[in-house]
Amino acid sequence: MNKTLPFSKTQIENIITNYPTPFHIYDEAAMLANAQKFKAAFAWNAGFKEFYAVKANPNPVLIKLLANCDFGCDCSSYPELVLAEKAGVTGENIMFTSNNTAAYEFQKARELGAIINLDDISHIEFLEQSAGLPDLISFRYNPGALKEGNAIIGHPEEAKYGLTEAQLFEGYKLLQQKGVRRFGIHTMVASNELNGDYFVETADIMFNLIIKLHKELGIRFEFVNLGGGIGIPYRPEQQPVDIAAVSAGIKQKYEDLIEKNGLAPLKLYFESGRYIAGPYGYLVTRVQHFKHTYRHYAGLDASMHNLMRPALYGAYHHLSVVGKEHEAHNTIYDVTGSLCENNDKFAIQRPLPKLEIGDIVVIHDSGAHGHSMGFNYNAKLRSAELLLRPNGDVVQIRRPETIDDYFATLDFTQLSKF
Ligand SMILES: *Cc1c(COP(=O)(O)O)cnc(C)c1O
Repeated sequence: MNKTLPFSKTQIENIITNYPTPFHIYDEAAMLANAQKFKAAFAWNAGFKEFYAVKANPNPVLIKLLANCDFGCDCSSYPELVLAEKAGVTGENIMFTSNNTAAYEFQKARELGAIINLDDISHIEFLEQSAGLPDLISFRYNPGALKEGNAIIGHPEEAKYGLTEAQLFEGYKLLQQKGVRRFGIHTMVASNELNGDYFVETADIMFNLIIKLHKELGIRFEFVNLGGGIGIPYRPEQQPVDIAAVSAGIKQKYEDLIEKNGLAPLKLYFESGRYIAGPYGYLVTRVQHFKHTYRHYAGLDASMHNLMRPALYGAYHHLSVVGKEHEAHNTIYDVTGSLCENNDKFAIQRPLPKLEIGDIVVIHDSGAHGHSMGFNYNAKLRSAELLLRPNGDVVQIRRPETIDDYFATLDFTQLSKF
């Protein structure tokens, strides 16, 4: 997949005169075109809905733009619920998929009328006592060894999430006894998965489980939520998931399993984050230093607190040097930030065009799990977020942090007492 930029050299230079680097910039037109494509691919399923996973990029402007495409929100904490509410997303447009959940979080989810997706059988009683049981409940299923995992999410049987199959039967039965009448079911067993067959296989497992639960307990499920985890091509040699093919594969399973067993209509839900926001974000930085020791280092004005994925998972993020895209990539660099951590490197031993001080280096695919994974370790301040509008205008949708933000939780006047 060709890694291009949504702005020219002149355009980005102009943007930088107004907004100093580093910053994340999001391409609204491309993000919304993909959102519409995702929705259109599943148009065969009446009630299809994507609940955008807020944790991927919790900027309320993005949440609102996606809500304008009829996307809901997938939230997992109290502040994420409040963000959804502020962006105008409430009621059953919110999926509350949390784990190890506190009472005040269940209370907020109930107050907003969110769909509650329970992570454990013990949470039935906990929810009942802390917030009361809603009409509609779903469980997160962990298929254990039935399904293979991948590097980010690990193996399902080692994952902390979800109920076993036996617990599902017990859990739904208990809910029926307690008077709950509306049911959904959820699973999420992949992260950054590029093989589309994986999602068709997950649908197959879930549809068969729905048939079994129907036979045993008489439940007519309203929805199945296949979770997030749709991957994106971080590397130029990777291809995006063919979402039309995934949809066609799931449709076939739906006809063979759900329709044939008289269990239609069943609404299909996803709660993708990365696939929705990831490819449309760019971390824009400049080269500020070189250092030639045992390796050639290029030091950027951004650090891992702006984008932690390379340091955290050894993840590949493509780099473009603005204006030098077509030059020979004949110099090998370790591209670093300024944090006092040796894994603060955006790229290791990466062939790049020969860099100069001031070169604009754009780090691709920062739209999901980028700014949102940011942190303040080493007293690093988080950057601004900008939105590139379809007409070419640029709007700042989050200002950069200041030192006063960093100190806001401290009371320096207290120092005199010690
Ligand atoms: C992280 C997460 C998502 C989104 O995952 P992506 O890989 O960004 O699609 C969805 N649902 C749950 C429960 C999650 O924890």
